[in-house]
Amino acid sequence: MMDKIDKTRTDASWMREALALAMDRKGTDPANTPIAALVVLDGKLVASGVNRTAECCDATAHAEIEAFRAAGKALGRMRMEGATLYSTLQPCGMCTMAAVWAGVSRIVYGAGRADVHPMYFEARHLSTFDFVADAWKDDLSLTAGVLAADCAALYYRPWDHVPEDRQAND
Ligand SMILES: [Zn+2]
Repeated sequence: MMDKIDKTRTDASWMREALALAMDRKGTDPANTPIAALVVLDGKLVASGVNRTAECCDATAHAEIEAFRAAGKALGRMRMEGATLYSTLQPCGMCTMAAVWAGVSRIVYGAGRADVHPMYFEARHLSTFDFVADAWKDDLSLTAGVLAADCAALYYRPWDHVPEDRQAND
């Protein structure tokens, strides 16, 4: 991947790559929860992941966690200071804490919780920003709403009627 270094790539450019990955691997049906995440370090894509909770029967197999696991293997270490996590959907509390543990420097996401159905988020710690603040992280910045409309189009929207049995958030 060393030939892919491009420090001039914008957040929107990386988010387009995440969107393409989500649609390539999971399609565009919101029932398949097409969420994708990238770990980018020094202008280089280190690793990526898509949500695989249903496929893996694993509540922790969120796109961001999958990306961190792959990035850790690729880098040979768990810490990834200076890295940016891109996610098509606002990271949940678990993934935000994983970003804190991994030491990433930026979280950039597309659709926010107000853009999608409430089924995607747990009831407490509603704001990723609060989560980071509560972890006393002043070296982790957050950028919200990059290609938000394109990202939100992949998910159930706040006004969609989603049957109870489709609300497992997997
Ligand atoms: Zn998550």
